[in-house]
Amino acid sequence: MRTLQGIAVSPGVAIGEALIVDNEGFRIPRRFVMRDAVDDELQRLNNAIDAVAEQIARNRDAVAAQLGDQCGAIFSAHLQMLRDPSLLAEFEGLIRKKHYSPEYAVSQTLRRFAKVFQDLDNGYLAERAHDIVDIERSLLGKLLGERREEFSHLTSPVVILAHNLTPTETANLDRRFVLGFVTEIGGAGGHTAIVAKGLEIPAVVGIGRFLTDLSGGELVIVDGNHGRVILQPDEETIAHYRHEVEAHHTLVAELETLRDLPAVTTDGTRIALHANIEFPREAESCLERGADGIGLYRTEFLYLGAKVEPTEEDHYAAYAEVIRQMRGRPVVIRTLDLGADKLGQLPQEEQNPFLGLRSIRLSLRNLPLFRVQLRAIMRASVLGPVRIMFPLVSTLADLRQAKMVLADATEDLAEAGIAYDPNVDVGMMVEVPAAVAMLDKFLKEVDFISIGTNDLIQYTLAVDRGNREVADRYQASDPAVLRLLDQSLTAARAADIPASVCGQMSGEPLYTMLLLGLGLRSLSVPPSAVPELKKICRSISIPKCEEVARRAMTMESAREIDTYLREELRKVAPEFGTS
Ligand code: PEP
Ligand code: MG
Repeated sequence: MRTLQGIAVSPGVAIGEALIVDNEGFRIPRRFVMRDAVDDELQRLNNAIDAVAEQIARNRDAVAAQLGDQCGAIFSAHLQMLRDPSLLAEFEGLIRKKHYSPEYAVSQTLRRFAKVFQDLDNGYLAERAHDIVDIERSLLGKLLGERREEFSHLTSPVVILAHNLTPTETANLDRRFVLGFVTEIGGAGGHTAIVAKGLEIPAVVGIGRFLTDLSGGELVIVDGNHGRVILQPDEETIAHYRHEVEAHHTLVAELETLRDLPAVTTDGTRIALHANIEFPREAESCLERGADGIGLYRTEFLYLGAKVEPTEEDHYAAYAEVIRQMRGRPVVIRTLDLGADKLGQLPQEEQNPFLGLRSIRLSLRNLPLFRVQLRAIMRASVLGPVRIMFPLVSTLADLRQAKMVLADATEDLAEAGIAYDPNVDVGMMVEVPAAVAMLDKFLKEVDFISIGTNDLIQYTLAVDRGNREVADRYQASDPAVLRLLDQSLTAARAADIPASVCGQMSGEPLYTMLLLGLGLRSLSVPPSAVPELKKICRSISIPKCEEVARRAMTMESAREIDTYLREELRKVAPEFGTS
């Protein structure tokens, strides 16, 4: 049994067999071959070895021709390793005696070898582990080739262990079979994490390198509540976690009874609990969870994974579905927040995607794309209460230009005799410190604001929200972030403009008292968080929250603030105050 610590990003516990997805996306299931297929499988392995050897020889010759024989020698070493008789004997033994598939035999053997090298107290030899990983990759590339399975073809429950999953890959995970996932990289604010929470798949990210030690098929526990991953757990640990899963089911069933009750504090203040969604199909779970509306619909997910660019009709159909499902409850549609962070790539490479052509900047640079979306939203506005929200606004010019494009698109609809609601509220996200600094000006030109703490934290603290190397610095309760939140809520109150918070922070029970104490009366959270937040709201009073916020605002570090908030939460709702 081995326990690894990572970053908890999507709560819940998953217990199941590991399926490995390494850097290249190869999955190495534990497969066995039939006795009478052993010779054919060995032949397949030999063919793969020959093909890889040919490739290495070609690389050696090309490199030697350009850089000299010494550089080419690296590849000769790879060739030697690949043809090493003891290695081949090991492969053959596993296939003949244990009936492992060649893929599984290769990955088992080479990962074990790589681990031995890695653990050597000799820098030069430890580096050779990379060569072994390289050879493994090449061999698996040949062996799996067209056989490479996609996530969508899973047929049995698994826990996915990957170097990384993009938001699109995560969005396409088949929830019937993916019990949970773990990634080597990633941080709490990344979009992969957000999608996992939306899909309610227990997940831990940012574990660091651990895949080389595994070959798939091992039993794994993903503890998405505490960011723990347990490999090959013992019986006692399995029993402990099974008990935790049961306790969670009991809590969920208990919370279900609150579904049709309002989120009202003990002193009678009504809190609006809205939900964040990425896909139209999630609207149903917002209703099931008793949300008051949708406070953030991340429409860029229409684009992620789409093979062709969505048309106006595609946009319209998605919005219409959400609005109809919500049956009269408000729906805040955020215009595209596309950028390299979500796409994983852009037409042209950017060195600093989070500071680049992202979000409203991309929409304003690509007006036809922006107009298609705005027309679709306005057309859908006759179906129910819709609000439009612009993301990542950092200057007044951004906001004014976006509103002008909207006015233009609306005028076109009017001229064409197409119906729309002329009173659609227009708001902006506050997620850049510049927007907070200028908020009094912005508030004169918008109908509402929503504070996007996921980005506000990263831009305030200069910490990439998806980077595990600095994940310990990505703190929602950093005093600097809290000051900006306080400043924004105070300005909105003075201007009498409704304000909400839709970053992941608002869905964390730990921060509910603080946020209400700072004056927030509307939160937008992942659908799964609605029931627990409702329970907490119904257990606290605004004067107490104000006292907690006042005290927290005097503190000097996130750690101190979190410890204090945990203590206070434990007093009013012990079931949520532990993680
Ligand atoms: C945010 O930044 O807080 C937010 C809600 O937007 P996203 O996570 O999609 O960037
Ligand atoms: Mg954002």
